[in-house]
Amino acid sequence: MSLIVQKYGGTSVGNVERIKNVANRVAKTKKAGHDVVVVLSAMSGETDKLIGLATAMAENPDDREMDVLLSTGERVTIALLAMALNDMGVPAMSFTGRQTGIVTDAAHTKARIASIDGGRIKAALKSGKVCVVAGFQGITPDSDVTTLGRGGSDLTAVAVAAALKADFCDIYTDVDGVYTTDPNIVPKARKLDKISYDEMLEMASLGAKVLQTRSVEFAKKFNVPVRVLSSFSDAPGTLVTKEDKKMEKVVVSGVAYDKNQAKVTVSGVPDEPGVAAKLFGMIADAKVNVDMIIQNVSQGGKTDMTFTVPKTDLKKAMPKIEAAAKAIGCKKVVVNEDISKVSIIGVGMRSHTGVASRMFDALAKEGINIMMISTSEIKVSCVIEQKYTELAVRALHDAFGLDKAA
Ligand code: ADP
Ligand code: ASP
Ligand code: MG
Repeated sequence: MSLIVQKYGGTSVGNVERIKNVANRVAKTKKAGHDVVVVLSAMSGETDKLIGLATAMAENPDDREMDVLLSTGERVTIALLAMALNDMGVPAMSFTGRQTGIVTDAAHTKARIASIDGGRIKAALKSGKVCVVAGFQGITPDSDVTTLGRGGSDLTAVAVAAALKADFCDIYTDVDGVYTTDPNIVPKARKLDKISYDEMLEMASLGAKVLQTRSVEFAKKFNVPVRVLSSFSDAPGTLVTKEDKKMEKVVVSGVAYDKNQAKVTVSGVPDEPGVAAKLFGMIADAKVNVDMIIQNVSQGGKTDMTFTVPKTDLKKAMPKIEAAAKAIGCKKVVVNEDISKVSIIGVGMRSHTGVASRMFDALAKEGINIMMISTSEIKVSCVIEQKYTELAVRALHDAFGLDKAA
């Protein structure tokens, strides 16, 4: 008998029929003799709908109140699934973040988990119940409701699995595993049997939303075996696990894209010590993640500084960026939201040369202009015009022969 955490995403609980389908899957696992903790998302589109309501109400909704609002989506699905299971004769009980004992910091809308008590879950499991936990939410030590960032139900699942020392954390979604790239864009994408935590981490942080980035970080840290599976089929999924020798042979294992980036250029920046520290210090104070940064060669003691920030943070970040630009003596800030970032990822890049130039060549052949480049040991990213995203992803997938098994 194992303890299994099963997480079902928004599409998998998108309507009554689908929640019943989830109930059948959970019942099957329970009847096979396993203890089951289910973590659920809100119905697909629900969180976006709630955000829409909030922004119709106020231009910059208060973060604390936003979390009170957003946490309601998951309360709906956990109650409905528990009802469905009980109706089938499978004893089940729903738990909010608070009832699960998920304590976070107070960074509303992107809170970090500090601890999970899990006492009530353990007791309910012991009495033979299926536990249905609300994803994406926790509480601060002062009992304020928090949420864990978009896609945060994945993190709830992994963190609960770690806290309960579960044998598996199964992430059920609308695709049957992690592919070489988004299978909804590239039909030739190939499903991976296994992927290392590090590669998955890069893929996720570069835009592959199949797993939330922080959930992968957490899984790596606590060595949680994660499987990505489909809630609509019984196909074998993808195991996310520690790197092994065989994986190292692959130079490029995946292509990711991210349309949620905006490019900001601050021009006429004085080329002197302390200026970058001041500019990015002020942006960091607004808790905005800056990703790629480039600084041009200076001319006449002035330079341009270009960087990317998530589009979703832009509204909050712009007043800070403008204030910072003014403080360092530059007048012009230009924003371009019409961009996307395409990336290639692979642990094998560490020991291979010429990978970046192959990427640039593939983009050039399609006539795609590169605006920014950044590299690390195991990835190369390029910022391009957004309308070329799909074309670029397909071209890169072909250029690195990702449809063929390594
Ligand atoms: P859920 O609602 O179940 O959490 P998400 O929409 O967050 O599901 O994540 C699943 C989606 O991730 C897929 O529908 C697919 O479009 C996208 N995706 C992006 N990159 C990949 C990839 N490399 N492999 C599989 N899916 C991917
Ligand atoms: N409902 C939340 C979201 O849409 C959390 C999740 O689905 O993982 O981001
Ligand atoms: Mg998701």
